[in-house]
Amino acid sequence: MGTIIDGKALSAVVKDEVRDAVPVLEKKYGRKPCLCVIIVGEDPASQVYVRNKVKAAAYTGMDSKLIELPVSTREDALLRKIAELNADAAVDGILVQLPLPKQIDEEKIIDAIAPEKDVDGFHPSNVAGLWLGKKCTVPCTPAGIMRLIDSTGIELKGKSAVVVGRSNIVGKPVAKLLLDRHATVTIAHSRTADLGAVTRGADVLVSAVGKAGLIKRDMIKPGAVVIDVGMNRDAEGKLCGDVDFEGCKDKASWITPVPGGVGPMTIAMLMKNTLLCFEQRENNK
Ligand code: NDP
Repeated sequence: MGTIIDGKALSAVVKDEVRDAVPVLEKKYGRKPCLCVIIVGEDPASQVYVRNKVKAAAYTGMDSKLIELPVSTREDALLRKIAELNADAAVDGILVQLPLPKQIDEEKIIDAIAPEKDVDGFHPSNVAGLWLGKKCTVPCTPAGIMRLIDSTGIELKGKSAVVVGRSNIVGKPVAKLLLDRHATVTIAHSRTADLGAVTRGADVLVSAVGKAGLIKRDMIKPGAVVIDVGMNRDAEGKLCGDVDFEGCKDKASWITPVPGGVGPMTIAMLMKNTLLCFEQRENNK
């Protein structure tokens, strides 16, 4: 038991799907999809994420723009920049890297991005679309998680799925996607009374918390599919997930590692989302 789900390899497949599609779309519509990434300030982790996103866009052959703004940027200046990009017919996707400096209200910024260019899927109209079952942009990490689960070949219908974490960007949307696939879904969080009792019932367990070692061997069901979204640093400063990988890997049927699981898929799905936004905009012309 215990097959590792290789997120890096699967993300390469997804990026290649996008890379194959770009020239076809360019021929059909006379231009390439274009992703615009905005970073405010110099947070080192954010800089790495942004660089990887722009690198992935270059790999797929789509156009991309990186807009780097100083940490002192005022909210109104960022809103003006977003308005400019909303109005730019050549831009298909706008991503503002979070977190933002404290003088800027993140919610205001997310709300300002045109929903049809919201490649992160965070705009309220995309969130509503997801929950109402309408056409929308699905957030990248949850979309990547579903693709990882699907790569195992597991039939979700009728299975018990537990999502640990209830954030707007991971926990809640992934729970809805699992529900859409007819899993019986439970969402656990910091106030869940006996987390182990809940997670032990999971045929599919998704942990999106941000606490190293939270999910231990005795908390998973034998043969479970375990998806670890967490990104933490262990005592030696090494990147690790929420799940005790060594303890769980031979008890799970499938398990994602950290690094090399959900992380690379998030970026790959961002490329997919940019392509989808491009197509949707072209088809609505
Ligand atoms: P948030 O901090 O927004 O949410 C964390 C959630 O975990 C909350 O719902 C919280 O509960 C819950 N929680 C906290 N402690 C416990 C506990 N002891 N038991 C059960 N639940 C608990 O985090 P995000 O959703 O933004 O991110 C979660 C993790 O995923 C982080 O490590 C983040 O870095 C990583 N991440 C990785 C991505 C990737 O691409 N690989 C993308 C996005 C995130 P409550 O609501 O009650 O406070």
